[in-house]
Amino acid sequence: MHSVLLPSNSDTGFLGLSSLPVSSTLPLGIHSSGGSALSHKVPNAVYRISLAMKPQVVFVLGGPGAGKGTQCAKIVENYGYTHLSAGDLLRAERSREGSEFGQLIDSYIKEGKIVPVEITINLLRKAMEETMQLDQEKFRFLIDGFPRNQDNLQGWTTTMDTKANVKFVLFFDCGNQVCIDRCLERGKSSGRTDDNRESLEKRIQTYLQSTRPIIEQYEKQGKVRTVDASRSVEEVFADVKSLLDKEG
Ligand code: ADP
Ligand code: AMP
Repeated sequence: MHSVLLPSNSDTGFLGLSSLPVSSTLPLGIHSSGGSALSHKVPNAVYRISLAMKPQVVFVLGGPGAGKGTQCAKIVENYGYTHLSAGDLLRAERSREGSEFGQLIDSYIKEGKIVPVEITINLLRKAMEETMQLDQEKFRFLIDGFPRNQDNLQGWTTTMDTKANVKFVLFFDCGNQVCIDRCLERGKSSGRTDDNRESLEKRIQTYLQSTRPIIEQYEKQGKVRTVDASRSVEEVFADVKSLLDKEG
């Protein structure tokens, strides 16, 4: 098992909360009128910011080609979410000049295997931090294609559980054949090294063996929101919308 050292989270604290300037309290409308009032209002304000800024996460899961990316793009258009796809982040890291993990990621993706969790979590964490540093209002994330196995889940629990709130899991439920057909169709133009029959067979196996049990675990906690993803894009999105409108 490949092991990678993660940079420490303690540099600025996740999302740099500890280094927030006091003026960051202003958007929340917490004003101090000076004097003794300031001394008890500032800690209160910091506490409220820490709650407001804690990333709110929806994990998006489903088989390869279930339509996760398609639906996430539509959610982003209509709701205040930022879409982070584990697969996209890994592909970007694979092609980043100077990446020490390029080769490794490439071979895992071709084999339809799950890339070591340290790499994936680090990419997700960095993307979340960068998003929130640019705009503090952007604290809602759709994390697509994660957690895909027990290792992913454990990595999240260890490093992120206290730093982000997982609201629920959005599960795009779709038969294997539909998934395969969609990926083969996508493969005609995607240029992806894994949208071919050989890789797809492995990806479906990985999904059934490793990801389904994770969905089942979340189901037992009442955290899964299932959408029938075998229908048209618009029909699927209609369900997604009513679900998100309900969940807030
Ligand atoms: P995933 O992110 O789950 O791998 P994508 O969103 O990339 O899946 O969708 C896979 C392929 O299927 C894409 O070519 C996409 O255009 C198509 N697709 C997505 N959702 C639907 C749908 N509901 N009906 C038909 N085709 C779809
Ligand atoms: P996707 O773009 O979601 O279809 O993912 C493509 C490939 O990227 C997968 O088959 C894996 O090899 C890799 N990958 C995606 N998400 C993860 C993850 N959460 N953990 C590890 N590897 C992943």
